[in-house]
Amino acid sequence: MSLSCVSSTPLLTVQNLVKYFPVRRRGIFFYKEIGQIKAVDGVHLTIRKGETFGLVGESGCGKTTTARVILGLIPPTAGEEWFEGKPVFSLLQTAHKSEILALRRKMQLVFQDPYLSLNPRLTVAATLTEAFKIHRHLPESEWNDRVYALLEMVGLERAHARRYPHEFSGGQRQRIGIARALAVEPDFLVCDEPVSSLDVSVRAQILNLLAELQERLQLTYLYISHDLSSVRYISDRVGVMYLGKLVEVAPVHELFTHPLHPYTQALLSSIPIPNPRLSQQRTLLRGEVPSPINPPAGCRFHPRCPVAEAICKREIPPLLAVAEEHQVACHLVHDSSSTQLREQP
Ligand code: SF4
Repeated sequence: MSLSCVSSTPLLTVQNLVKYFPVRRRGIFFYKEIGQIKAVDGVHLTIRKGETFGLVGESGCGKTTTARVILGLIPPTAGEEWFEGKPVFSLLQTAHKSEILALRRKMQLVFQDPYLSLNPRLTVAATLTEAFKIHRHLPESEWNDRVYALLEMVGLERAHARRYPHEFSGGQRQRIGIARALAVEPDFLVCDEPVSSLDVSVRAQILNLLAELQERLQLTYLYISHDLSSVRYISDRVGVMYLGKLVEVAPVHELFTHPLHPYTQALLSSIPIPNPRLSQQRTLLRGEVPSPINPPAGCRFHPRCPVAEAICKREIPPLLAVAEEHQVACHLVHDSSSTQLREQP
């Protein structure tokens, strides 16, 4: 993806986003809370107009929860979000229904599973017009033309409007899912693992379609995936999450060529090189991802980190800039970058 059409203006800013889910056990009379799953714990994020921000990490690291909170689908435990300068969480609690609907129109979701996300009893035309009925942004006389325009936009034909989801392949269903997200003319799309359930042969087609639509409609994407190759292909900047926290954020080329956080280095070393003559050095991580109910003190990665030191068990490393556009949450990286800064003449 090209950075040329990315504006420096933030479209969306998230500050200190926290989302905990209660864990309850049944008592004699009532359920009582016995702990909390710390799914997202203090995430700061800025997404600029026109860019694709990739969010990567292992399953359960908090990527999807972050996206659901950003879209206002579940309430945050703490934190604030601004979209086009407006405070989203406060608006969702206090604004009039029409204002909330207008905000939701601008932020849409492309689901992971095109098989489960479409209603099998609705034709494609009925699926797309559902959105027009809810948001009432188009006069009814224009609905048909808009359905055909959406189908053309995602590479389907007019005749497909009368068919049902089971008559399509996985790739075509994902195209319908994208058309449904575009039906209300949004500015911002969250694409949550949009190609992970598809055949490898059609993944590239869907990624190319997303890239084309971004250019044509000036869209901004939050692209969530554990598939590093697709993230590298489509993203402008990438954030790496581990156990509810962002541990590294950098432009895509910088992150893939100079990863600084030990977790990012381990993740990237797991990408296979498609050349049997080249040897590959893999960083194997010890143990399992710790429980988000009781995450480790200090740096959450320290029980698995191959270079952890005593400070890592005591202090949480903040996400700090170590170069322009490159932020890392690691004590050792901060120490070495401050040493380098001191050594400069
Ligand atoms: Fe490893 Fe310590 Fe850096 Fe965490 S802060 S990634 S434990 S070196």
